[in-house]
Amino acid sequence: MNVSARRAPVPLRPGLSEQSGYHSPQVEVEVRLNTNESPLGPPDSWRAQLAAAVADMAFHRYPDRRAWALRRALAAVHGVHPEEVFCANGSNEVLQCLLLAYGGPQRQVAVFEPTYALHRHIAELTGTGVVGAWRTPQFALDLPAVDALLAEADPVITFLCSPNNPTGMAEPPDVVQHVLEGAPGLVVVDEAYGQFSAWGAMDLRRSGASGLERLVVVRTFSKTWAMAACRLGYLVAEPEVVRACELTALPYHLDALTQAAGVLALRHEDDMRERLSLIVEERQRLAGALASLAVESWPSQANFILFRPTQRSAVEVWKDLLDQSVLVRDCSTWPGLPGCLRVTVGTPEENSRFLEALRNSLGDER
Ligand SMILES: *Cc1c(COP(=O)(O)O)cnc(C)c1O
Repeated sequence: MNVSARRAPVPLRPGLSEQSGYHSPQVEVEVRLNTNESPLGPPDSWRAQLAAAVADMAFHRYPDRRAWALRRALAAVHGVHPEEVFCANGSNEVLQCLLLAYGGPQRQVAVFEPTYALHRHIAELTGTGVVGAWRTPQFALDLPAVDALLAEADPVITFLCSPNNPTGMAEPPDVVQHVLEGAPGLVVVDEAYGQFSAWGAMDLRRSGASGLERLVVVRTFSKTWAMAACRLGYLVAEPEVVRACELTALPYHLDALTQAAGVLALRHEDDMRERLSLIVEERQRLAGALASLAVESWPSQANFILFRPTQRSAVEVWKDLLDQSVLVRDCSTWPGLPGCLRVTVGTPEENSRFLEALRNSLGDER
C-alpha cells in the first residue's frame, strides 16, 4: 500500500479530543497502596462455589438480561424490591447509564470538588455539561455554595460521594437531607466506600425522609467485596430510575459469570465484614501514626487516607516511597489538592512498610 496516499485521520467527535482519558499509573512494586482495592482477596469458599457455577454454566446461552437473581439477592440485603435495583459492569457503568438516561446536551450535572474525577469525566463523555462548586478548606460540603449552585444551574443530577474519594469524609445525614431537599433533579450518592462508614444514604431510604423519590445510591463490589476484577456495581432507586437505566444499557451487558459471582458473594457477607473490621482497625492505626509525623491528614471513613507532607513536596515524598517499593497515589495535581497524597489501607504488614518508608522520607517527628 502506498503510505503517502493515506488520508487524514477521521476527526473525533466534537469535545472528545480534549478528553485525556482516566489513568491510574501502575508500577511494579511490593506494596501497592494506590487504587483503594481490598488488600485481601475474597474467601476460598467463594472461589470454589464460583468454579462450580462456571462448570455448570450455559455458555451457549445469553445471560439473564434482567439479572433477576442478583437483583433479588441485593434487594434482600437492602430491604427493597428488586425493581428498585439496577446492576451493571462496575459502578462506573451504572453512572454511565444514569448519565445517558438523564444527561446529554443542554443538560447539566453538579459536582463538588475535590471529588471522584469520574463523575465529571463520564458526564463529559456523554455530552453532559458539568458545573462545580468547591468544598470548604477541610473538604466538607459548603452548603451556601451548594445552594447557590443548585439554584443557578438547575442540575439534572447532583453528585455526592460519601465517603468522598479522595478526601475520605462521609457526608452526615443532615447534609444529604439538605441536598435532597434543595436539588431540582436526582441526587446520586456514590457509596463505593459506604460500608467503611458508620452511616450511609442507603439508611436514609428507610427513614421516610422527604425527597427520597429522587435519591439514587450507587455501590460497587470493587472495594468492600474485594472483587474489583469482576466489574460489578449497582444502584438502589425508584423503579422509574431503574427502567431509565435499562433503556441505556446495552442488551445483555452484564454477563452470566459476573451475575453468578455477585450472587455468591452475598452469601459471604460475614467474610466481607471481617475484612472490613480489619481495614477499619488498620485505618485507625495509620491515622494515629500519621498524626505524629510531619504531615497534615484528614479524618477518613473509607479505606484510604489523604495526607499532605508539611515540610517536603508531595512529589519528593511519593518518589521516596516508590524507591522503597511502596506506591501511593499522587493527588498533588488534582484540582483543589495541592501537595496531597492518598494512601490505601492495606494489610497490617503493608501498612507498616508504608509507615516505615514514610518515616525514612520525613524523619521521625513533626
Ligand atoms: C473505586 C470507586 C468506584 C468503583 O468503580 P467500579 O466501576 O465499581 O470499580 C466508584 N466510585 C468511587 C468514588 C470510587 O472511588
